[in-house]
Amino acid sequence: MTDIYYSSTRGGERGATASQAILKGLAEDGGLFMPDKIPALDISPAKMVGMTYREIAYEVMKLYLTDFTEDELKSCIASAYDSKFDTEEIAPLARADGAYYLELFHGSTIAFKDMALSILPHLMTVSARKNKADHTIVILTATSGDTGKAAMAGFADVEGTRIIVFYPKNGVSRVQELQMLTQKGENTSVVGISGNFDDAQNGVKKIFGDREFAKELAARGYQLSSANSINIGRLVPQIVYYVYAYVKLLEHGEIGEGEKINITVPTGNFGNILAAYLAKRMGLPVGTLLCASNDNKVLYDFFCTGVYDRRREFILTSSPSMDILISSNLERLIYLSSGCDAAKTRELMASLAGEGSYSVSNEMREKMSDFRGGFATQEENAAEIRRLYDKTGYLIDTHTGVASCVYRKYAEETGDKTKTVIASTASPYKFLKSVMEAVSGTEKGAADEFSLIPEMERVSGVPVPAAIRDLEAAAIRHDRQCSPEKMKETVSDILK
Ligand SMILES: *Cc1c(COP(=O)(O)O)cnc(C)c1O
Repeated sequence: MTDIYYSSTRGGERGATASQAILKGLAEDGGLFMPDKIPALDISPAKMVGMTYREIAYEVMKLYLTDFTEDELKSCIASAYDSKFDTEEIAPLARADGAYYLELFHGSTIAFKDMALSILPHLMTVSARKNKADHTIVILTATSGDTGKAAMAGFADVEGTRIIVFYPKNGVSRVQELQMLTQKGENTSVVGISGNFDDAQNGVKKIFGDREFAKELAARGYQLSSANSINIGRLVPQIVYYVYAYVKLLEHGEIGEGEKINITVPTGNFGNILAAYLAKRMGLPVGTLLCASNDNKVLYDFFCTGVYDRRREFILTSSPSMDILISSNLERLIYLSSGCDAAKTRELMASLAGEGSYSVSNEMREKMSDFRGGFATQEENAAEIRRLYDKTGYLIDTHTGVASCVYRKYAEETGDKTKTVIASTASPYKFLKSVMEAVSGTEKGAADEFSLIPEMERVSGVPVPAAIRDLEAAAIRHDRQCSPEKMKETVSDILK
């Protein structure tokens, strides 16, 4: 197997091993780590028929994490994809109204972030050992609601780590907030900021780029890393379930060998859909990648026009985990589409930071033609959740609703009949109020979200997940808040 090394999308760092890239999270020049080449699957999907999720995870991840031994990687995989998931299948496919919903929410925090964040702490610990890193690793994370909880659940009480999560105080669902505020673990901290997700993410990136602060922390025995999808250790495990879904479709006779499928992904930071793209580049038969946005449709506009422009109103929607105007992982697609031109990528990212926008050449757009943007307004989203439920009895959450709606509109407009996998990114129980409002078509007013649990259980026929059952009674353990300007001071204070 050829060794894979990682370089920054901005050119300032080259030749990092996978374990070094995972440990660092973000490259020193503020760029994102990318593999110097995208490896091809060395075993065909047809040959993977009959394999378990763990076995497929190994076949995919070994191609990227080439400095991990077989034992190391297999043990990380075994510790991650175990009974924390409520189904042996780990990521089951549900067929409804002609599409395949890939349920990525069977982990401990019932959102797709669990798929990567159940393994990241293990990859991180092995990486620290390999590189003889003796500092405490401090995971700094910005969250639009789901990453924070999933990362804390993964890192809670993991020796040699601390984790600090920043979330938009008024930008997450009640369930999401309670999940975070009740998090146990001596090494976990949660901070609500008076700003939106972009503010949180910018603040975290600024801290990563602060060399002086890094030195100061190093002197105190700390090294920063990231659990956001800017970390390559998040991205690689996300490739797995697309390969897995394809293999299962093949196994169940839903598609033939080599048949192309389309994939629709409800998108925010562009991490999940980028993983699907990497799966395609590795040789998985995939046609179109439908990038579904909510009312914050900066990506839709980008794929239509080639202009990325974040200068617009930030809209709080019923799919809060997609309320993002600066999609970090798009930088990786920019880099790939420019022929791995780090200078070009740096220039475009500087323009985004300075002017708030950039535009790409037609040649680069050509290279992105696997992608197609779509969006669903809040009303369209609710209507789709209701329509699908009325027709099939299958209940989806508000993020999956955006993807489902975008897929239906696309299929109608184009007549494309390609079998389609829709990434189903959260359990409807995580967004009780919005989902029940969508299904019933009536406002639930100021009613306590938790009072809707029995109704959702009756409507969906899905038992209340463990993650929800004990939440209401759980003790609040965190109450820190700060302004976006004070994030660095807050980190310093927490680490006192
Ligand atoms: C994070 C998240 C998304 C967006 O995923 P990206 O990788 O940021 O594009 C969509 N849905 C849910 C439920 C999420 O938690």
